[in-house]
Amino acid sequence: MDLGIKGKRAIVSAASKGLGFGCAEALAKAGVDLVICARTQETLDAAAEKLRVHGVDVTAVACDITTEAGQKQVLDAAGHVDILVTNAGGPPPGVWSDWNRDDFIKALDANMLTPIALMKACLPSMMEQGWGRVVNITSQSVKAPIAALGLSNAARTGLTGYVAGTARQVAGSGVTINNLLPGIHATDRAVSLDTGVSNAQGISMDQARKNREGTIPAGRYGEASEFGAACAFLCSTQAGFIVGQNLLLDGGATLATI
Ligand code: NAP
Repeated sequence: MDLGIKGKRAIVSAASKGLGFGCAEALAKAGVDLVICARTQETLDAAAEKLRVHGVDVTAVACDITTEAGQKQVLDAAGHVDILVTNAGGPPPGVWSDWNRDDFIKALDANMLTPIALMKACLPSMMEQGWGRVVNITSQSVKAPIAALGLSNAARTGLTGYVAGTARQVAGSGVTINNLLPGIHATDRAVSLDTGVSNAQGISMDQARKNREGTIPAGRYGEASEFGAACAFLCSTQAGFIVGQNLLLDGGATLATI
């Protein structure tokens, strides 16, 4: 399917690995020029090289996207933006009594206020040109909270509430905003969560993964490339009537009718 976005320009934040990279690669395959970022120069440069194979222009900005300085660096490097895909690392797991004000501020900065700041920067010119696409990478925990991820639950539901209203306010200008909600995908983040379970329960990493796969009706972890394909479709011209949605990609793990 031709997604109709060849030659458009996108920011994909936190994109040297995992789901962010999956989104960047799917957009690159659709002919979209990219500005990507991550904190580690080496892996970021390697990711940019892999993306350039698809014949698109890729600018790599090494920065922490959760800081104002990092956001400015990325926005300055991009200039004109047609497509914005927001992403950042997720907060650490724990229990309700672990987290203090600073932990919450950090989580809110990363997973709520950063995507909001990027949207506020990009939406005016998208609206003026009458076309734009925003996809925020959130989590299945928005629909079905995961107890150990209280920081993530809190920050991402805040973002979801903001998007629910904002998506309706900008849709009339040809700009869509939607959220993608990953369930368990085979990325470094999944390995780190499996490591936590393996240590806490005294079981092998293989067993920890098998146990988690057993909770997913599809019987496996998702792939970043599958996630990226869904993202690229939401960024396509054909997706212009999809507004303010929260799309779960979780292999059926969340048991809900809606
Ligand atoms: P990942 O494989 O660990 O990759 C994270 C990427 O983001 C890396 O490129 C990392 O590079 C970059 N990054 C992290 N923090 C950053 C920051 N402050 N500034 C700039 N770049 C940053 O993670 P993932 O699995 O793709 O997860 C992406 C998001 O989806 C996370 O918020 C995660 O919590 C959420 N999620 C993932 C899953 C899953 O199963 N994978 C499920 C639900 C939700 P550097 O470290 O070099 O900066």
